[in-house]
Amino acid sequence: MAPLMDVKFVEKDVADEQDEDPPDSSEIPLPDEARHEVVLPCLQLSKKTSLKIPLKPGSSPKTVLFRRTYYPEVPNKLWNDWRWQIRNSIRSLDELKSYLTLSQAESISVDRSLPLSITPYYMSLLAVDNPQDPLRRSVVPTKYEYNYMPCESNDPLCEDDQSPVPGIVHRYPDRALFMVTDYCSTYCRYCTRSRAVGNGKMNLSLNSLKKGLEYIKNTPAIRDVIVSGGDPLTMHEERLSWLLGNLRQIPHLEIIRIGTKVPAVLPQRITPELVRMLKKFHPLWMSLHFTHPDECTPEAYRACKMLADAGIPLGSQTVLLKGINDSVETMTALVHHLLKMRVRPYYLYQCDPIAGSGHFRTPISKGLEIIKGLRGFTSGYALPTYVVDAPGGGGKIPLMPDYISSRNEEEIIFKNYKNKFYSYPDRSDGYDDGFL
Ligand code: SF4
Repeated sequence: MAPLMDVKFVEKDVADEQDEDPPDSSEIPLPDEARHEVVLPCLQLSKKTSLKIPLKPGSSPKTVLFRRTYYPEVPNKLWNDWRWQIRNSIRSLDELKSYLTLSQAESISVDRSLPLSITPYYMSLLAVDNPQDPLRRSVVPTKYEYNYMPCESNDPLCEDDQSPVPGIVHRYPDRALFMVTDYCSTYCRYCTRSRAVGNGKMNLSLNSLKKGLEYIKNTPAIRDVIVSGGDPLTMHEERLSWLLGNLRQIPHLEIIRIGTKVPAVLPQRITPELVRMLKKFHPLWMSLHFTHPDECTPEAYRACKMLADAGIPLGSQTVLLKGINDSVETMTALVHHLLKMRVRPYYLYQCDPIAGSGHFRTPISKGLEIIKGLRGFTSGYALPTYVVDAPGGGGKIPLMPDYISSRNEEEIIFKNYKNKFYSYPDRSDGYDDGFL
């Protein structure tokens, strides 16, 4: 087996960066300004304090008000620094209470493996007094997470059983999932990998990353790798660059995809430096994770624009969630935003039966109703494929409303999006004498 770095590199500037191991990213480095003690303003400041530093244009009114209220002393430079955002994320019940009026169901200390973490930016988008607020429901823990149903499990997709080496899930012949970190800046309460993210179980050492790379390199059938986690864009830039560079050296690997929620929860992470680094590894695609139109802020628009301008095709994977985005109206608003952000709505996922996710799951009929409410009423590009990821590891199964009303040997009767009936002559006995 050849060592990892023996393969010749295509681009010199990339190759130069690959000669050594990446730095250890266990500690996210901070710029000098960020090293000043940042006292959590939520525990200190009066809500009447006004913002002393003018805000840059391009924030939503909610974020402007939030900063005026809680972070008036924090300059734009720090607020817009992704490392500052991560350092100052809200991680405890006491901190949550400083920002939100918690309901009884929300007043719990999290002691399950999926931790609490919300970036200050994302916190700025949550409704203070409304526990039903869609974004708030998606990230604030509730007691309902502790209701486990018999049909649920920690790993319903059997990813662990389809993992030949740590970090790799190899389910489909020509694609592999490479989970390279267990860390996310903000944890979604419905996360499919809630068994593994945020608790160190999946935080791959350099050695494990190398084993994952070796596996892909030694499996020529793999032509597409999805770099996921956790959220790979929370990784140290040099480590991510090292990883992508090593993947790009694998001759049979045609495309690399990155799965991330960063543009929605930490858009400050999309910096010119990051984008410059990413575009070295084309063809590189990105699967973003947008859940609700309220996430489509000026900051998220800017982040997606930077990625799209770098030639990275963007798709969004959205989980269908009860009380969050389970209506035609909300989904239409979301997919319209996504198209304007140059993000193609890619998949709409039926929520996986993860332990403690019953309060998020809708019946499948709801998903079909939403697809029916989109098809014909908006651009085809706005339509995601609705899928169930089959429990047991069976892969994605697409679901479509049934547009066939009846059929016989000569025709099929369809019902269109307005419930009008049309006949198509379904015959293959047309005249053909063999001369073309
Ligand atoms: S960003 Fe993805 S991996 Fe992280 S908690 Fe949300 S769903 Fe899970």
